[in-house]
Amino acid sequence: MQADLICVGNELLTGLIENSNAGFLARRLWSTGIPVRETAVVADDEKSIREALERALQESELVILTGGLGPTEDDLTREAVASIFGLELTIDRNWLERMEGFFRQRGIDMPHNNRKQAMVIEGSTLLENKRGTAPGAMLKRKGKIIVLLPGPPYEMQQIFEEQVLKEVVKQNEGLLATVKTLKCIGIGESMLEQKIKELGKWDLPPISYVARGYEVNLQIKGYGDQQEATAAVNQAEKKLRDALGDAIYGCDDETLAGVTATLLIKNNMTLALAESCSGGLLSDLITDIPGSSCFYCGGIVAYSSDAKINLLGVAPGLLEKEGDVSPAVAEAMAAGAKKIFNSHFAIGITGVAGPGSDAAGNPAGLVYIALEGPDKTEQKQLNLGGARKAIKERAAQIALDMIRKAISRG
Ligand code: ATP
Ligand code: MG
Repeated sequence: MQADLICVGNELLTGLIENSNAGFLARRLWSTGIPVRETAVVADDEKSIREALERALQESELVILTGGLGPTEDDLTREAVASIFGLELTIDRNWLERMEGFFRQRGIDMPHNNRKQAMVIEGSTLLENKRGTAPGAMLKRKGKIIVLLPGPPYEMQQIFEEQVLKEVVKQNEGLLATVKTLKCIGIGESMLEQKIKELGKWDLPPISYVARGYEVNLQIKGYGDQQEATAAVNQAEKKLRDALGDAIYGCDDETLAGVTATLLIKNNMTLALAESCSGGLLSDLITDIPGSSCFYCGGIVAYSSDAKINLLGVAPGLLEKEGDVSPAVAEAMAAGAKKIFNSHFAIGITGVAGPGSDAAGNPAGLVYIALEGPDKTEQKQLNLGGARKAIKERAAQIALDMIRKAISRG
């Protein structure tokens, strides 16, 4: 099965809003083994939506449209889909009542326009929207699945995850039985490929590589009979894990921050941070994890030399002698945070986010990370490429990976 995406909205064409829905849907579909053939971005215009949909239906078994389900006159996705299949729009009484209740709760009369959002295409399944008033819809016609989702990402994602993905995966069974994604860090794509080649003739399910920032994902796809495919994918996973060891940090929906957090919690360990060039990004990644308060004591963003001295207790002489961007200062920052927060682990990050060199002549991308553990200290020097944001992100990812490896290696 392959998919086409149609994102509806004038604001996407003018560039006022970034088309993040396409990226989200493509990633989620891809992770279940369904590639996106084409993404179209079209105006709030019935003819444009119809033309895009006609083309998509010729090529793909699954077509997902986002946007244009709102209450205003320029929201035309429902109408366009219904007219292509010659279907009527009828009012869904239950949804209408729910919307009226939604407005009543907020102490306002429902504007008449909103009635439009209770219109459903005959024969379609209404997809409940827990985060807004525009429900989605799923329609099956001539062996194809057509899904309509509201434009706002927060609403769209929830409906997709809870009500669309399972159904789509079910339809795709028989072709693709199972998919497993192994997530690797700290090892490049070509090195990975080489290590896998060294395993010899590969008669197990095919593997695809996808590089994402500092990570590479290995996707193993099992086709055909469910049981046989699962067994073959498991066998491939075992071989890959044996060959790659802790370069694999997790699988499927796991994230590096999540895996690191789980390790800290399991081992009853706490963490503190002292960040300079990453500007609090690592703290942000960690506090995105629900339950981070179980292990995260806190962090200090010490950007200036004075902040490093006054907030983290870094010795002025050390800064003068070694410079702000140096292994010794990274270590002193980590030691300071560990002491202040009384944690088991502490990270110190100092470096040059760029785009130019710093006042001392250190090049952009030079970053030092120190990890103070319960009984040892580790250091890493990074020479990162890329833009400012990418340098900050990579430094934060690598710091997480240092914590993960330190705990799992014991
Ligand atoms: P609403 O009831 O909010 O009007 P809708 O289904 O009609 O929902 P649109 O009017 O198309 O959706 O879009 C509403 C808002 O959702 C947009 O202004 C934009 O902020 C966001 N949005 C729409 N499409 C996308 C997209 N492809 N990527 C990211 N954001 C989007
Ligand atoms: Mg709208």
